[in-house]
Amino acid sequence: KKEEAPILSKKEMKRVRRMYPQPLVSFKELRSKYKISSRLAENVAEQGFTVPTEVQLGTLPILLGDSSIPMENEAEPDLLVVAPTGSGKTLSFLIPAINKIVRHHHSKSDEHGILAVVVAPTKELASQIFNEGRKLVAGTGVKITLMKKGMRVVDQDEEGDVNVLDEESEASSGSDEEEYSKPKKGQTNVPVTKSDILVTTPLQLVNSLSANQTMPMGRLPLVRSLVLDEADVLLDPLFRDQTLNIWRSCVHPDMRVSLWSATMGSNVEDLTRSTIKERLEDLGQKSDK
Ligand code: ADP
Ligand code: MG
Repeated sequence: KKEEAPILSKKEMKRVRRMYPQPLVSFKELRSKYKISSRLAENVAEQGFTVPTEVQLGTLPILLGDSSIPMENEAEPDLLVVAPTGSGKTLSFLIPAINKIVRHHHSKSDEHGILAVVVAPTKELASQIFNEGRKLVAGTGVKITLMKKGMRVVDQDEEGDVNVLDEESEASSGSDEEEYSKPKKGQTNVPVTKSDILVTTPLQLVNSLSANQTMPMGRLPLVRSLVLDEADVLLDPLFRDQTLNIWRSCVHPDMRVSLWSATMGSNVEDLTRSTIKERLEDLGQKSDK
């Protein structure tokens, strides 16, 4: 009656444990266990949520990387997440993406440019994500930009930094943009900001990337976190090509993609697998040379 053989052997259990860190217990652990930026932790606390939702419990430890558990293959996996509408997916991807950038800034890296891209299928969704992100980055030094019509992603300042330009000048740059600088003589584009995070619809980003003909593929060379929100929609035929173009523009070897959705058909899983495989093969070929 008792002493049923365990489904997994001890060794297998160990492996699974390593692949899937323990769920988060409370938001306090973000600071105590996962050592996220103190300011970011304060901003999360400020939201007033008492208990993390299920999807937050599960994904935050994976994306933040529990340093006490050595991950088997990579420091951070690519991730495909299915959780119902209203379950708090936005915080689940924003907190790790922002924290990674804070760490990046602290690492004295001289890379400056877009380090994270969040793609959502509609302007309204992008705008909601941006507003949540704005609250979370306050005081962390991380800059977040909502892509709008007329903005362009360019890689053309002296240090080769990737910037966002706003062709519509003052009209849309807004008074809350602290980094706003007056256009220099003969300069038609206004650098809105040296942004770390872009929140965008697929079309808005694809347009702003392809408007710049002088740049070769890999126009988002520094991006470490690519978030595809409502991934089932982003990968349906209407948006698929644009989304895959963006995905393929994120060429950094440490780039990780996460896909988030309330529903996830098998076609999404297949497409995800094949695109990730493509990237890994690409990386393999590069390192062979
Ligand atoms: P989803 O993207 O999964 O549909 P959202 O990220 O838009 O869900 O979150 C839905 C609502 O739940 C938002 O108003 C958000 O502020 C709120 N929320 C997020 N996390 C929590 C939490 N831990 N406790 C209570 N409410 C939360
Ligand atoms: Mg959502």
